[in-house]
Amino acid sequence: MWKIPLFETSFDKMEIEAVHNVIYSGWLTMGDITKEFENRFAEFLGIKHVIAVTNGTAALHLANKSLNIGKGDEIICPSLTFVAGANSIYYTGAMPVFADIESQDNLCISPTDIERKVNYRTKAIQVMHYGGYPCDMDKINDIAQKYKLYIIEDCAHAPGSEYNGKKCGTLGDIACFSFFSNKNMATGEGGIVATNNDEIAKKIRLMRSHGMTTLTWDRARGHAFSYDVVELGFNYRIDDLRSAIGLVQLNKLQTNNKKREQLVKLYRIKLDELNYCTIPFSNVLSISSYHIFPILLDRKINRSEFMEYLKKRGIQTSIHYPPIHKFDYYCRIFKNNYILSITEDVAKRLVTLPLYPNMKTEDIYYICEVINEFLKNLEV
Ligand SMILES: *Cc1c(COP(=O)(O)O)cnc(C)c1O
Repeated sequence: MWKIPLFETSFDKMEIEAVHNVIYSGWLTMGDITKEFENRFAEFLGIKHVIAVTNGTAALHLANKSLNIGKGDEIICPSLTFVAGANSIYYTGAMPVFADIESQDNLCISPTDIERKVNYRTKAIQVMHYGGYPCDMDKINDIAQKYKLYIIEDCAHAPGSEYNGKKCGTLGDIACFSFFSNKNMATGEGGIVATNNDEIAKKIRLMRSHGMTTLTWDRARGHAFSYDVVELGFNYRIDDLRSAIGLVQLNKLQTNNKKREQLVKLYRIKLDELNYCTIPFSNVLSISSYHIFPILLDRKINRSEFMEYLKKRGIQTSIHYPPIHKFDYYCRIFKNNYILSITEDVAKRLVTLPLYPNMKTEDIYYICEVINEFLKNLEV
């Protein structure tokens, strides 16, 4: 249907073969392949513990639960992110407290606004490295130390991103990744929690599978006959089919991120000459995973018309994100009490253009030509 979709997976024969092998092995659920996936991801991040789970939302939920976050607590988080971020806090009985983004150029959470919102109820800061561009972690870490707060990194956009030579996912107390179909590493559904803290890791491992002390896998291997339940847990297990895809996708990650970077560079060159739109993250000193490519339209441009124009020319676009505090559900929770002026202004003007590793340079030329055409028509 689309001439150029918003994203495309980078699957080929290798993922098919990996799944095929798992099917023929006779062991489908969480087992050896998941263990291998966790070990390889831990190696990749340079972190002690990695726990693979059902999806990124489950990862965030477990991260919050493992810090004993619950009723009466507040967690500071961005509103310009996927709703799962705030939901994962609200699931525990704690309240998400939204902080504004830094600027029109830096769409990550603002350290200044974080500090403004800290109070005696604040227990943690949940950051999200928007588009794969790392948050200002030096300042955020200072705030966390000053007020004794935990840091949870939502790294759904950021596998392979780096800040001061350290991988995103190792910059706080716990990190959560998602392997949903449109992420830089895709397994369909899937996610991981990563931490250097032994206690936290132990708790998350238990909670991933009903709080049970042994797994089906241990019992099948004759390592155990029975089990105890020592935590209130969930079924947030991944399966070996997805872990097998994850291993292949992890191998491709660096090359794929490089391809994304090249495409973004080309986009920037082509769009730089145009009036009426700017490109956020113009001044990035860290390494990005280039998860998405957002542009910011001038206030006088009608975004729906813009997106409709691209749609007619076969180009799929999206919005990352409608701010969480403006969703009906969260308006009801907060009785419409939130004002986040930069988030609100920017969220009305953001458009995400297609970006995926196997996009062709001609695709970018075409998209930029269509945008140019639209903007030129505005002038007459
Ligand atoms: C995708 C995403 C999630 C949720 O991950 P799922 O695997 O879909 O549950 C959370 N936060 C952000 C920023 C995301 O992009």
